Amino acid sequence: MRKVRVRFAPSPTGPLHMGGVRTALYNYLFAKKHGGDFLLRIEDTDQARYVPGAEQYIIEALKWCGIEPNEGVGYGGNCAPYRQSERKPMYKPYAEQLVEKGWAYYAFDTSEDLENIRKQAELAKMPNWQYNSISRMTMKNSLTLPADEVQRRLAAGDPYVIRFKMPRNEEVRFQDLIRGWVVFSTNELDDKVLFKSDGMPTYHLANVVDDMTMDISHVIRGEEWLPSAPLHVMLYKAFEFEAPLFAHLPLILKPDGNGKLSKRDGDRLGFPVFPLEWTDPATGAVSSGYRENGYFPKAFINMLLLLGWAPGNNQEIFTEQEMIEAFSIERIGKSGSKFDPDKTRWFNQQYLRSTPLPELAEMLMPYLKEKGFNVTQEYAGKVAHLMMERAVFVKDMLEGDYLFQAPAAYDDDAVAKRWKVGESSVLMNEWGARMNALTDFTVEEIDAAFKQFLADKSLGMGAVMPLFRLLLTGTLTGPAAAQVAALIGKEEVMRRIELGTQKLG
Ligand code: GLU
Repeated sequence: MRKVRVRFAPSPTGPLHMGGVRTALYNYLFAKKHGGDFLLRIEDTDQARYVPGAEQYIIEALKWCGIEPNEGVGYGGNCAPYRQSERKPMYKPYAEQLVEKGWAYYAFDTSEDLENIRKQAELAKMPNWQYNSISRMTMKNSLTLPADEVQRRLAAGDPYVIRFKMPRNEEVRFQDLIRGWVVFSTNELDDKVLFKSDGMPTYHLANVVDDMTMDISHVIRGEEWLPSAPLHVMLYKAFEFEAPLFAHLPLILKPDGNGKLSKRDGDRLGFPVFPLEWTDPATGAVSSGYRENGYFPKAFINMLLLLGWAPGNNQEIFTEQEMIEAFSIERIGKSGSKFDPDKTRWFNQQYLRSTPLPELAEMLMPYLKEKGFNVTQEYAGKVAHLMMERAVFVKDMLEGDYLFQAPAAYDDDAVAKRWKVGESSVLMNEWGARMNALTDFTVEEIDAAFKQFLADKSLGMGAVMPLFRLLLTGTLTGPAAAQVAALIGKEEVMRRIELGTQKLG
């Protein structure tokens, strides 16, 4: 069996969409599972669509996601270079080899020639004219022009392209690992340009030559490339080279299932579609990223894993090792999967909850600094412990400033409903005195004292707790008051009772 070698081959035409990240992920998992190689190849033959910064973005995004290639641009390897623009001299001999074998031909038609013929076809009510196995015999190419004229034109440096000579009346079949047998008739396929007049290969030629010379065993890529696959299969046949096995991944759909999730959907629908934030170098427009939105890369990857692939049981959370072991191409679905932003947040919440406290504390520190709260990492750890169950993102653990400073204001509605001027202050001062007498000031101790206080005063929880909470936090929501009190400490609790009773009267 051929050694597993797979590649992720993006074109640097913009930031990597999360569908692209999923393609990279599936390639990565497949390679790891089979002890194979995962390559990163940059397909930049289309200079017109080149976007500065996109390549760097792709590399950084894969790094952030933890799906790093072991060969390719930025990583080196035996097949270097891995950037197609740097492989340019390699492609022409392959195109010429096909001409020699009778699988391709030189075409000298100018763009005006092609435009004219398309117009005529439209006028004759035959739109969608194609340069194909029938029409090529009426065009200016090495199949129709006398051999000496072809030689003269080539020698004179006349512009030309090299086109694939698609045979007539043949069936192209290949077994897609996701879709099963795919059959095309060559009569539906045109004579694609393989090599352009500017000396560059087209996507088709460069892609196939690179997959051959990099000894790629499996091509795992998006469904949008399925229509190109028959040409690629024919190219392998023409080169007399063993074709890789193909797996075309289904689309990622918009949350409502109506069509493909596009680059524009993200910020329009209120969630990121890119792994990292991206600033368009031409317009300066900023698109949000999962990283900047506070997602854990592992949560993002875990979500993508299940967006098209299913484990066959109801496991949802996977470590990297579990992903590698469980992954198989056979369990990738045939139809598109709807992206679910709520589920994505759920994954983040799960990862947040399973992150060890010291790590959460470390992540919390920059947010605290930014807000000007000067606390120790140990204190941040306690904050994390108290708040993690209520948070989806690390920054949510800062939902209230009250863990760091006394409330600057008290919720008006709550005050109006609960606070009785004079009476409430007396009650709170009394409760404050009880707490002041405690020695350990733990949650348990505070809870016990509170129960005793209610019993002694013959009051219900509802008559006292909201007042206490209001003085501590300024609101009626948030974690249990005893928890907050134990965290901020006795001295601060006393200070807040004094401050609050003075302010509210
Ligand atoms: N350059 C193509 C892309 O941008 C690669 C397609 C393939 O994997 O063959 O997706």
